[in-house]
Amino acid sequence: MQHFPVFMAISGQRITLSGGGAAALAKLRLLLKTEARIAVFTPDPDPQIADWASAGRLTLTRRALRAGDVAGSVLFYAADEDTAEDARTAAIARAEGAPVNIVDNLTDSSFITPAIVDRDPVTVAIGTEGAAPVLARAIKADLEARLSPRLGLLARAGKAFRKAAEALPMGRRRREFWADYYFGTGPRATDHGIENTLENLLSDHLSRADRPGHVAFVGAGPGDPELLTLKARKALDEADVVIHDRLISPEILELARREAVIVGAGKEGFGPSTAQDTINALITRHAATGAQVVRLKGGDATVFGRLDEEIDACDAAGIAWHIVPGITSASAAVAAIGQSLTRRGRNASVRFLTGHDMQGFADHDWHALARPGEVAAIYMGKSAARFLQGRLLMHGAAPDTPVTVIENASRPDQRVIATTLSALPADLARARPAGPALTFLGLRPRAAAAALDDMTEEKQELA
Ligand code: SAH
Repeated sequence: MQHFPVFMAISGQRITLSGGGAAALAKLRLLLKTEARIAVFTPDPDPQIADWASAGRLTLTRRALRAGDVAGSVLFYAADEDTAEDARTAAIARAEGAPVNIVDNLTDSSFITPAIVDRDPVTVAIGTEGAAPVLARAIKADLEARLSPRLGLLARAGKAFRKAAEALPMGRRRREFWADYYFGTGPRATDHGIENTLENLLSDHLSRADRPGHVAFVGAGPGDPELLTLKARKALDEADVVIHDRLISPEILELARREAVIVGAGKEGFGPSTAQDTINALITRHAATGAQVVRLKGGDATVFGRLDEEIDACDAAGIAWHIVPGITSASAAVAAIGQSLTRRGRNASVRFLTGHDMQGFADHDWHALARPGEVAAIYMGKSAARFLQGRLLMHGAAPDTPVTVIENASRPDQRVIATTLSALPADLARARPAGPALTFLGLRPRAAAAALDDMTEEKQELA
């Protein structure tokens, strides 16, 4: 970060600007939203600036800036749009101790003005350090659309109500009151009814019995934060405690409330893992204190997630729970290769298998799996590749049965290893996927499949 965003107290302070053209106008429009005293120096002011001066909104001195003019100013803008003149006025401002912004000159400026979304007293400042003004504009437009125009009104009324809200105990109950106000009841109130709304809401929350602890088993999807469901996001927004698997990406954990307690309880993978009993105890212990617990699991919580053991633990402790479905990695992986999990005429069923349990397969399972057209999504299958290959070939699977391994599906480091049953162990050993990987038996990437179809057609034509 080369620039540190701060909010500066400028009420009643002096801000000086040199310039009278378009750049000056643009800056003044922003500055006039503040409670600062604005002083403008220019021999040639735009009529709008003259109007503002006659309306008493700023003071206008109709000459070029000179030494002494910036003294006592908390900020200075060089907005003459003339390199030499800007350098001259900036030098005066620096000598007189004011931080300097030269319009459109990042290198010589000691501060920059961000793009602003204004819902006073709520202000969002967006900066890209000059890297991407287009991006700043897009983010601003996005926020403008997302934040209610009445947010400022709500925040002002809320601020005045803060003392009254102290009737609620600090922590979760007070937080819930404010969340309810800003995102529930508040936006629906009429402009005049806001104070009433606040009072009614407060008595409502005061009378509400303490909410008991609760556990939400939330599927976090395969890694891309955009593949979280809205319900998962909401659960994260409300969680007091988040207990997560090793597979959960940091970008997703970022979405939890800042005050939330985040506990890593790694189960998947090959590193040190937490015993299931310890995880169960962790979940119930937190919920028993009245906390809203989110048990965050990779993909979908109901797929190879040891969910039932955790639910049983909740039931045994008398703790209420619910499940928020997520996108399982097989869905993300099949999307990555442009295929369907099922397809008319090819496979009417698809199996979700875990590489961990394959040793226990009976002969008829292997027979079924070895049939042409069969599709299976194999979770945790990396170390089982050789075993899988051996058994399938033994039970009559074609050596050229397509196999595709998708590592880190939906993540920036996603990798697709397209191979066949006969080449699988060798290709895996070569590619050495380090991240979570899903193996598809019976599917190849669509592009490769199309190329193969072309080849077959060519062969048929030649024949
Ligand atoms: N509940 C999870 C699966 C947990 S088992 C789900 O629904 O996806 C862990 C296995 O999931 C990993 O060994 C891997 O096979 C698979 N997996 C999880 N995330 C993945 C990802 N982003 N890409 C590929 N495979 C993934």
